[in-house]
Amino acid sequence: MSKDYYKILGVGKSATKDDIKKAYRKLAHQYHPDKSGGDEDRFKEINEAYGVLGDDRKRAEYDTYGQYFSGARQAGGGFGGGQGFDFDFGSFGGAGGFQQGFEDFDIGDIFGEFFGGGGGTRTKRGRDIAIDAEITFAESVFGTGRKMVLSKNTTCAACSGSGAEKGSSEKNCATCNGRGKHQEMRRSILGSITTVRECETCHGTGKVPEILCKECKGVGIVKKADEVAIEIPPGIENGEMIKMTGGGEAIPGGITGDLYIKVHVKPHPAFKREGENLVMNVDVKLSDALLGAVYPIETLDGGIELKIPAGAHFGEVLRIKGRGIAIPRKGRGDLLIKLNIKTPNKLSKKAAELVHELKKEGI
Ligand SMILES: [Zn+2]
Ligand SMILES: [Zn+2]
Repeated sequence: MSKDYYKILGVGKSATKDDIKKAYRKLAHQYHPDKSGGDEDRFKEINEAYGVLGDDRKRAEYDTYGQYFSGARQAGGGFGGGQGFDFDFGSFGGAGGFQQGFEDFDIGDIFGEFFGGGGGTRTKRGRDIAIDAEITFAESVFGTGRKMVLSKNTTCAACSGSGAEKGSSEKNCATCNGRGKHQEMRRSILGSITTVRECETCHGTGKVPEILCKECKGVGIVKKADEVAIEIPPGIENGEMIKMTGGGEAIPGGITGDLYIKVHVKPHPAFKREGENLVMNVDVKLSDALLGAVYPIETLDGGIELKIPAGAHFGEVLRIKGRGIAIPRKGRGDLLIKLNIKTPNKLSKKAAELVHELKKEGI
């Protein structure tokens, strides 16, 4: 049975950290064993509750795994596991010093240490893997996929990670006598402190297979080359990282690490990216700029006929809607075409004559 720490402190499940601290201080004063009307058992219980609810991580664990918390303590971690709770509060800071300094002294911090050593609640994680993927500029605009072969520790497919041969039953782990944990006790000024560590043979489960899986020799993990399909979303930028949760290395008795893919986008000779827009330059002949023209242009979406308006200016930007970078859940940006009007370096005799004619027209 799991204790209701919220009830012990008289706070609701949605209580803030401050509410919990206030409730704890009030109750700790009220039930302190040195006071008249004090109650040592209640006091211990209050401290135990605060040791968990006063710590964000432990509170989250307790909210999720209330049962497990209780189990961990019964296995001998910290309080209540029958490991002599022989505090002598009077000895803090000399005679009477403890009472005096009570307001400033966050006793929860001390109690926290007991829990810290005792839970075995930290989950082991396999290693993360980081790889690089090079894609073309067009792939970065539209998104793409890659298949890669990674050699890594993965969960054994033959036994689904249990380490047991098919059909074999489980027996108690001999290393820890089925407890899943080893405990060590040491004395300190705060009394005896019990620390608990996970059994390495059974990874805390207390059980080992009767017959070991032949594929993984009971480890539950094998090293093998695995093909991974990586989805690269449209609109990804050079240097961006994709995370595939659980794509890293597996570890016995723990959770699998993650896979990180760093994406390198090869530059394009014609296109550049500006936010969600694509930018390109187009050279336009002077006469076309003056008279207007239609230019065939290769875009990433295929060929288009670009209409150069008569009287186009140098540096003028033509916008083609919806032909830019694809942004997930947003649509596509635009293609911006910057006109680069080419003034000839050298005029033929005839061209020079014609320009003289133009000059007479005031152009
Ligand atoms: Zn196996
Ligand atoms: Zn064991």
